[in-house]
Amino acid sequence: ATPEEVVRDADIAMYRAKAAGKARYALFDAELHTEVAQRMMIESDLRQALARGELTVAYQPLFNITSGRLRGFEALARWHHLERGTIEPATFIQIAEESGLIIELTDFVLRHACTQMAQWHAMDPALADLKLQVNLSGSDLAHSALSERVEHALASSHFNPRLLTLELTENILMKRIDSALVTLESLRKLGVSLAIDDFGTGYSSLAYLSSLPIDSLKIDRSFVHGMREGSNNAEIVRAIVSLGASLGKVVVAEGIETQSPFAQLRELGCENGQGFHLSRP
Ligand code: C2E
Ligand code: MG
Ligand code: MG
Repeated sequence: ATPEEVVRDADIAMYRAKAAGKARYALFDAELHTEVAQRMMIESDLRQALARGELTVAYQPLFNITSGRLRGFEALARWHHLERGTIEPATFIQIAEESGLIIELTDFVLRHACTQMAQWHAMDPALADLKLQVNLSGSDLAHSALSERVEHALASSHFNPRLLTLELTENILMKRIDSALVTLESLRKLGVSLAIDDFGTGYSSLAYLSSLPIDSLKIDRSFVHGMREGSNNAEIVRAIVSLGASLGKVVVAEGIETQSPFAQLRELGCENGQGFHLSRP
């Protein structure tokens, strides 16, 4: 109706085209309008949810699949929206990243999960060595105060840094490899461990892999799903397991949904795993 609206909508379409790559166009239509309106609503609701503490954390058990022993948990953010019901992490994590709310979200998950784990540790000496894994985003890695934030979460929850592992996806890590190195080292100095999440889906340089201060590799679930005797995926998993062994990294298989990959992973000597077959978050 107004010139301002037309310019605004053209701007939105331009950003959409840019996000999709070079040399293309995007049309501002009813669909894009609805999508943008939805996103803006989710973003503003997420801001409130964070302020009101409406987010929670789910814990997915991580096992040593050779011995069957529980090693610890991965903390996964959950949002139950009062009107819309459950919103998938894939949706709200991305919106949190694009809006800058992710810093607050990470701090929330870190503090919440460290506090919960410290409570479990204190309950029983048998639980005292359970580890915690927390996911970081690209904006966290780029944030200048990341190690101070982690240090603060550890101190305020009295959580042992040696039991905390921070997960970064392969793509996030490789995109900022040079600036990341300093940050990774300072996190390591706190005593925390680092893991590459969704390993195999990004473009890791093997040269970096041996020199990065990374403790573990989490094999992406797409490889684990497609494992069948002699399939390419099974061969990729075998290669990652042996790569991990020769570089001295802990290897974890994600997304073990059925007995078959579970048995195969054990045969391949993959020591650690998580997935619906073992336990849902
Ligand atoms: P991720 O870090 O790779 O986490 C594992 C995801 O796989 C979780 O999805 C988990 O519920 C799911 N999963 C576990 N076992 C199985 C299985 O056997 N089969 C299948 N199909 N899926 C399985 P979720 O909770 O929906 O989280 C999705 C992604 O969102 C996570 O992937 C992570 O990248 C991101 N995320 C979740 N919580 C946080 C957070 O607190 N901070 C950040 N930065 N990212 C988070
Ligand atoms: Mg993860
Ligand atoms: Mg993963």
